[in-house]
Amino acid sequence: MSEDSEALPAPAPDAGPHKRRPRYGGKYPRRFEDKYKERQPERYQSTVAKVLASGKTPAGMHRPIMVQEILQVLALQPGQVAVDCTLGYGGHAQELLKRLLPGGRLFGLDVDPVELPKTELRLRSLGFGPEVFTVCRSNYAGLPRILGAAGLPGADRILADLGVSSMQLDDPARGFSYKLEGPLDMRMNPQRGQPASEFLRKVLPEQLESILAENADEPRAAQLARALAGKDFKTATELAAAVRQALPNSKERERELAVPRVFQALRIAVNEELSALESFLRELPACLNPGGRVAILSFHSGEDRRVKRAFAAGLRSGAYSGVAHEIARPTAEECRANPRCTAAKLRWAQRA
Ligand code: SAH
Repeated sequence: MSEDSEALPAPAPDAGPHKRRPRYGGKYPRRFEDKYKERQPERYQSTVAKVLASGKTPAGMHRPIMVQEILQVLALQPGQVAVDCTLGYGGHAQELLKRLLPGGRLFGLDVDPVELPKTELRLRSLGFGPEVFTVCRSNYAGLPRILGAAGLPGADRILADLGVSSMQLDDPARGFSYKLEGPLDMRMNPQRGQPASEFLRKVLPEQLESILAENADEPRAAQLARALAGKDFKTATELAAAVRQALPNSKERERELAVPRVFQALRIAVNEELSALESFLRELPACLNPGGRVAILSFHSGEDRRVKRAFAAGLRSGAYSGVAHEIARPTAEECRANPRCTAAKLRWAQRA
């Protein structure tokens, strides 16, 4: 495709002075900053298609997980009011919107002020105007307030796809990835709270130990907590190296597994993800219209346990008329095409 030829197309008349394409060694760019084609999927469609076909997620994009399964569970109807609690790239939202029209409405929530405006622009450019799609920069724990402010008693359909997006994970400036050199930040909303570096500097070893055990089932939580709590790590790769060093007697494979676990546990703590989830689960029945449905995608045991318990309690109390008794998992085919979906677990509940 001509859009993918090496030279950038001639600049538009108002595009300012010509810029050379970024220089990188080798045939393909490796650094996020150099992947300028992947980050403009509208302009470089065939580059993006190649990256997707290779089982990778293009820079600046997120592939929605278990879309068919979610659509089946939610069974959206035109005219309904739905909420996507975790808008991300808008992959799920786009599919929900198509099925809510004509006459329906979608509220899209996210705490991330960096990605949210880009996602809003993308969905608006697909033709979803403010009459059908409302963007809210908000924690999903604030859903009751959002519905109240819109004068709605509840929503017919709610989706929450927990955790981080690929855009957050792949951007070194956000500090989520242990593989990328970047400031140790990890905040989904960088304008609030403290970065992971500060959190680690202040946390006590006992606190960190329970964070590692609870948020990532880390078997060597105590040993790691003693080595990491109170230390000053500037970058994500510095912390990753310290995790490996803290386990000198472990097998190489175990050391490598500890690194993503420490990052996951810290991310959950820094963003207070579990307290937001608990608050959301408590308010959920009241946010759903009678007969309304919710689908939740979770990515680790701490999340799934909370969802499972809240749904079971809601079923016992009569708030829900039905809940998923088994989790649904992505197909082997989806896991091959998108390894980032591998840990996903889907549960649903229906309001009585
Ligand atoms: N389903 C989306 C991807 C979601 S990724 C898609 O198809 O593109 C998870 C998103 O949830 C991230 O953008 C993250 O910023 C957001 N998020 C995580 N916790 C949140 C919370 N408590 N409230 C609102 N948004 C949250």
